[in-house]
Amino acid sequence: MSNNSEVKTVILGGGLTGITLARLLKENGEDVVVLEAEEGIGGLCRSRTEKGFTFDTGGSHILFSRDCDVLSFMENVLGKNIDHRHRNTKIYYKGQYVKYPFENGLHQLPQEDLFFCISEFIKTLVKVERGEIAPPENFREWIYYTFGKGIAESYMVPYNEKIWNYPTDKMSHHWVDGRVPRPPVDDVIRSAIGIDTEGYTHQSVFGYPVHGGIEALVRAVAAPVADEILCRFKVTSLRRKGDLWVVSDGDRTVEGERIISTIPLQNLVTALENVPGTVSTAVRNLKYNSVACVYIGIKGEVPDISWLYIPDPDTGLENRVSFPSNYSTEVAPPGHSSILAEITYNEGDTVSGMSDNELIDHITGSLERMGIISPGQVVYTGTDRQKYAYVVYDLHYLNNIRVIRDYFEQERISLVGRFSQFEYLNMDGCIRSAIDFAGRDVCR
Ligand SMILES: Cc1cc2nc3c(=O)[nH]c(=O)nc-3n(C[C@H](O)[C@H](O)[C@H](O)COP(=O)(O)OP(=O)(O)OC[C@H]3O[C@@H](n4cnc5c(N)ncnc54)[C@H](O)[C@@H]3O)c2cc1C
Repeated sequence: MSNNSEVKTVILGGGLTGITLARLLKENGEDVVVLEAEEGIGGLCRSRTEKGFTFDTGGSHILFSRDCDVLSFMENVLGKNIDHRHRNTKIYYKGQYVKYPFENGLHQLPQEDLFFCISEFIKTLVKVERGEIAPPENFREWIYYTFGKGIAESYMVPYNEKIWNYPTDKMSHHWVDGRVPRPPVDDVIRSAIGIDTEGYTHQSVFGYPVHGGIEALVRAVAAPVADEILCRFKVTSLRRKGDLWVVSDGDRTVEGERIISTIPLQNLVTALENVPGTVSTAVRNLKYNSVACVYIGIKGEVPDISWLYIPDPDTGLENRVSFPSNYSTEVAPPGHSSILAEITYNEGDTVSGMSDNELIDHITGSLERMGIISPGQVVYTGTDRQKYAYVVYDLHYLNNIRVIRDYFEQERISLVGRFSQFEYLNMDGCIRSAIDFAGRDVCR
């Protein structure tokens, strides 16, 4: 490509959203280009293979969705490169494994804890029915209101404060429906007396690429638009020239009639000139966290678990430990297994100051104490960090995002994707946004 070029639509960011948009818009007959800052595409859906171990660098990913069209889209693009597994997910609770979601595993709790959880659940239910508890005003109150004090204090609050790295009473609860498993009352009672129940069922069977980790999905989506992707193009400036937009990385420029941004809002506003102070402030006040991924390859086997939630801070800094070699046999060498631990953090906190070796030592120590690995089994270690991992819905989120969206609508810059819409979107949500944006139904 020359130092200057002109296209109709410029897509900022080559993660799953940007690549899916490029594919759909090209199928619509549009002239598009994707500008991606990194050496390769994929964003949070990248994977790396070293010494026979493949790990997802944005944290362990699986394919699932309630949205049948999106699920078919993901499955169709992967073709034969997908395997399906039954979810066997646990919570590590006081030294033992409890079935996930927690409310579906109550009978596995120590008797006193089971009593605490079920009696508080029922008492809360009665009080809510009688209108004796005020409707929740924040996420913490929503947890107590929905699950009662027992489940709240045993699991929901500690787990959520760990993964968000943020106090739950400073978080909004407008986003929880469909994202936080919320079981029917009958299921909680069944589970408490030991009748088997399943929660969060749209995820009970999940898919994963056989080869190449989750990045295989983005690569498959990208195949028809490979020539329209420009990597190592970090957008640093975006300005108008008549009816056109001029996008630059400080060296090259691309001109286009319209801009679709899938990059974090924080990166987008810094590339624009004359952004009103209210908008810059609103963007600065948005909350998010980062994730550190620690990879462990071992000789031998791991437990037959898909992934394990770790609510207790005393067990370790990690909120989740996944076992990718249980998703596909091809992601670890024969006779070996793999473990991926995720630790969320924010700039300036203890984790952000830890070196890679300190993170690895911390995780191996924690896995040894949990009895998942033993000394001498580890044959491979590695780490990666992602600055933008999770959107955190704080109490000011709705006000901030309204100011931001109004501004970009007025500027006619479209925002699509996880950190551009600034929403808790999984891969299916990103693909759905891209499909809706492209204005067509890809499944027909
Ligand atoms: C720990 C973790 C686990 C997850 N697990 C799952 C799961 O199991 N299943 C699931 O469905 N989803 C999961 N997700 C969510 C999934 O990763 C995201 O929904 C999806 O990857 C977001 O894609 P995106 O393209 O919108 O954003 P991103 O992946 O963030 O892509 C944005 C792209 O923009 C680029 N960029 C940024 N700034 C610039 C710039 N200035 N110029 C040019 N390019 C730029 C970045 O390099 C990146 O490639 C998980 C996420 C995390 C953090």
